[in-house]
Amino acid sequence: MSAIEIAVPGIGEFEEVEVIEVLVAPGDRVEVEQSLITLESDKASLEIPSPRAGVVRELRVRVGDRVSEGTPILLLEAVGEEAAEAEGDEAAQAAGEGEGARAEAGREAAPPRAPALPEADLVAEVLVLGAGPGGYTAAFRAADLGKRVVLVERYPTLGGVCLNVGCIPSKALLHLAEVVTEVRSLARHGVDFGAPRLDLAKIRARKEAVVKRLATGLAGLAKKRRVKVLQGEGRFEGPHLLRVEGAGGSTSVAFEHAIIAAGSRSVRLPGLPEDDPRVMDSTSALELAEIPQRLLVIGGGIIGLEMAAVYHALGARVTLVELLDVLMAGADPDLVAVLRRAIDARYEKILLETKVTGVDARPDGLHVSLEGAGAPAQERFDRVLVAVGRAPNGARIGADRAGVRVDERGFLPVDRQQRTNVPHIFAIGDVVGPPLLAHKATHEGKVAAEVIAGRKSSFVARAIPSVAYTDPELAWMGLTESEAQRQGIEVKKATFPWAASGRALGMGAEAGLTKLLFDPASGRLLGAGIAGRGAGDLISEAVLALEMGADAEDLALTIHPHPTLSETLALAAELAHGTITDL
Ligand SMILES: Cc1cc2nc3c(=O)[nH]c(=O)nc-3n(C[C@H](O)[C@H](O)[C@H](O)COP(=O)(O)OP(=O)(O)OC[C@H]3O[C@@H](n4cnc5c(N)ncnc54)[C@H](O)[C@@H]3O)c2cc1C
Repeated sequence: MSAIEIAVPGIGEFEEVEVIEVLVAPGDRVEVEQSLITLESDKASLEIPSPRAGVVRELRVRVGDRVSEGTPILLLEAVGEEAAEAEGDEAAQAAGEGEGARAEAGREAAPPRAPALPEADLVAEVLVLGAGPGGYTAAFRAADLGKRVVLVERYPTLGGVCLNVGCIPSKALLHLAEVVTEVRSLARHGVDFGAPRLDLAKIRARKEAVVKRLATGLAGLAKKRRVKVLQGEGRFEGPHLLRVEGAGGSTSVAFEHAIIAAGSRSVRLPGLPEDDPRVMDSTSALELAEIPQRLLVIGGGIIGLEMAAVYHALGARVTLVELLDVLMAGADPDLVAVLRRAIDARYEKILLETKVTGVDARPDGLHVSLEGAGAPAQERFDRVLVAVGRAPNGARIGADRAGVRVDERGFLPVDRQQRTNVPHIFAIGDVVGPPLLAHKATHEGKVAAEVIAGRKSSFVARAIPSVAYTDPELAWMGLTESEAQRQGIEVKKATFPWAASGRALGMGAEAGLTKLLFDPASGRLLGAGIAGRGAGDLISEAVLALEMGADAEDLALTIHPHPTLSETLALAAELAHGTITDL
């Protein structure tokens, strides 16, 4: 077999450009147009595609090398037709057709061009699979950067899980729950409105109106940007080809670049009745078909606790079971304790280290078998909500046909530019890994679109905030105290109790706390946790402080309005700085 040297082609004005990535290794099989290396100048990054198919025999460049037109990249052993063609070239050279052979070499060194795409019904410069917050953000950003974009979504509306059956409808209902609980608590302050009268149809209609308004807005934004939205189930058929099966038939889309934003789905618990509407996941729970007298929530994570708050506020008696020995694993125990005190008083039972071993669906209710210290062996509920986590959709999109690696859990591994192992295919959002949060997905979506458009972007966020919109809310970001302990990281901790905040006392929110963690050496903020009303909004200041490298003094000297809950961040910083006078 013959080996040919692949060199850097003519790359316009670029000279002595740095190699920032080598995308293949000796032994790898490469296809025509598959990217071999990425170059980065101060103006743009550029992938150099292979002009031939073959197997990489030897690399001639390394990351950090500076290359110009003609610099050898690698030695490629041609295979199949390519080998015959290459051998033909060699034979021609041996026969003295020097000029012709040089012309052939010149063909190899052609400037990077769009790959030869397979025949298809539609052609996209950027194909986006999945129109959740990650997908539509990526599609819109790519279109804004001048790309011809096709966005594929199996459902008729854009917005994905977050808008249709996640963040937005749940928060619309959680707002109701918060107000109902707040109004109830006013009796303590001398104002009693009595028991609420519920109109479930109206509640559902309002929640749906919020979702519809946003979904309509997204459709308008897509249209304005000339993003072609294709409805149907998409599956890869090759490295540059996706097939979409929809109500209108089958459509093939050839693409130069793809962004996979296929999201995640609720995990089902084996052994539970499959088609009994009384056994709900988060999607059916959000439909609010009825308010059961007794609800069992399986799973003490954010989604389980949020839905428990909704159903309790609307009148259900709630029992919550969790397999672990803590609620909301990931949040620090002092934050969770604030929530725990509030819900201990509201819910019938909270059972930790408890397993649901079976559900027997009978006409009089769901008879649930439980296993765990302090748990009843069996109990009857009117409905059960299963909220035990979410699984990525990576293994359901034909990724193997495109050569994209899917790990054993169904996630698609990516680098900091959101690139999968196939250089022209990117992945973002829930399908690439935790945290499974909409704001992570949107940021990743922008990075992927910008990298494809030649921008120097990468996902380098120092903190991704987490929020549980429970009552009270919990929010945390950056390093947690538990993680610091686990990793043996020394931190300087300052916790400001809301009982010392005039605003919190006036609102009846004195159970809350604001905690800041600083690096004892540099003084910089490392992490923050807040438990209490509006924690999800308050945490943003801490995220900004961390991103900007602020220390306790920066936060303490930033004048916060009085009396507000935001002051608790400055007061915690004063505590760390040693200048507090409020305690
Ligand atoms: C009840 C609930 C509440 C939540 N609350 C919050 C919250 O308050 N804040 C927060 O940050 N996050 C929240 N989340 C998580 C959030 O919804 C996800 O992190 C976010 O939606 C992920 O966005 P994504 O773009 O990665 O994927 P998704 O939103 O999952 O979107 C993926 C899209 O791809 C489509 N798709 C998948 N496969 C195909 C295919 N083969 N062909 C065509 N289309 C396909 C799907 O139909 C879907 O529309 C919540 C989730 C749930 C379930």
